[in-house]
Amino acid sequence: MIEKQNIRALNEEELIKWLANYGEKKYRANQILRWLWVKGETSFNKMTDIPKTLIRKLEESFFIDCITIEKYIQSYDSTVKALFKTYDNFFFEGVVIPDEKRATACISTQIGCPIKCKFCATGQLKFQRNLTVGEIFQQVVELNNLSVLLFNKVITNVVVMGMGEPLLNLTNTIGALEKIKMYDKINITDRKITISTIGLPDKILELSRINNNIKIAWSLHSPFQTIRESLIPIAKKYSIQDIIQAFKVSKFKQPITIEYVLIENVNDSENDVKELIKIASQFRCKINLIPFNKIENCDFTSPSLLKIKTFQQKLVEKNFIAIIRKSKGTDINGSCGQLANKFY
Ligand code: SAH
Repeated sequence: MIEKQNIRALNEEELIKWLANYGEKKYRANQILRWLWVKGETSFNKMTDIPKTLIRKLEESFFIDCITIEKYIQSYDSTVKALFKTYDNFFFEGVVIPDEKRATACISTQIGCPIKCKFCATGQLKFQRNLTVGEIFQQVVELNNLSVLLFNKVITNVVVMGMGEPLLNLTNTIGALEKIKMYDKINITDRKITISTIGLPDKILELSRINNNIKIAWSLHSPFQTIRESLIPIAKKYSIQDIIQAFKVSKFKQPITIEYVLIENVNDSENDVKELIKIASQFRCKINLIPFNKIENCDFTSPSLLKIKTFQQKLVEKNFIAIIRKSKGTDINGSCGQLANKFY
C-alpha cells in the first residue's frame, strides 16, 4: 500500500502534477486549494464542486493533518486557552485574548520548545516536532471559531507567541501566515501579525527578506550577555550585538518590540535599565515589559508593581515607548511562558 501524503504540505505545482497523473484538469488544483485555505475545509467529502470520482482518488492518496480541540478553559478575565491534539497524538496550546476592540489569537509553532528558557514552562516540555503549515493555519481557524462562539468576535490580530521558537520553524510559520491571510472568515494583514523570537540573526535576515511588513518582537530579557546566557541557553551561540546587527541590516518596516520579562533580582536593577537604554538606542524599537508569570519548578518571582513602574519610568524619561504588558489568563496558565498543556 502506498503511504498517504499530507495534502496541506503540497503547493499548487505539486497538486497540478498529481492531478495530471490521473488525467485531471489543472483548474481542479485551484478548487482544491481554495477549499483547504480559503474555506479551511478539513474533509474531502465536503468539497462540493469536486466530482465524486476525484474525491475518492484524493481520499486514497492523501490525508489532511487535522488538529482538534481536545478541551478549552476560560479565565475570569475572558482569555481562553485551547488544548489541541494533532493527527499523530501530540498536544499543544493556543490562546484567544479578547478586548474591547480586538480578538487576538496567540499561536504555537512547535510541540514543546528546544530553546529551554529557564523562566518558561514550555521549555520544560520535551521538544517533539515542528508544527506543520496546516496545523499552524488551522489553529487560527479553530481559535477564530472559539472567539466567535464565546465573544461574537472574529480574530483581528495574530501573535506568534505561543509554544515554540517560530524562527526555528520559519518555513512552516511563514507558509501558514500566508494561508491565514487567504482564510475567508477573517481579515488579517501583515501589520496585524507579530512574530516573537529569541533572536536568531540569520533567521531574522531571512525573514526580513521574505516579509518585512510583519511585526517582530525580540525576547531580550537582559542587556548583559552573561545574564542572558544564564536565562536562555541558546544565547551562548548568538551575542546580543550580533542580533542587534541583524535588526539594523534587516529592513523591517515597523519598529521592533523588545520584550523584557522582569524577574526580581535578576534583571530589574538600575544598572539593567541603564544598559537596556544603550541597546534600545541602537535601532528603532519600543519596549514591552512583562512581569514574570509564576510557573512550576522555578523559583523566580516578579518584582513589585512599584519597582516595575520605576523601571518603566526610566525608559519613558529617555523618550522610549515602554509599556507594561498586562498578564491575561494567568489563572488558567494561559499567560506568556505558562503554556505547558496543563488544564487544571
Ligand atoms: N520563543 C519565542 C516565542 C515565545 S513568546 C520567544 O521567545 O520570543 C512568549 C513570550 O513570553 C516571550 O517573550 C517569552 O520570553 C515570554 N515568557 C516566557 N516565560 C515567561 C514567564 N514565565 N513570564 C512572563 N513571560 C514569559
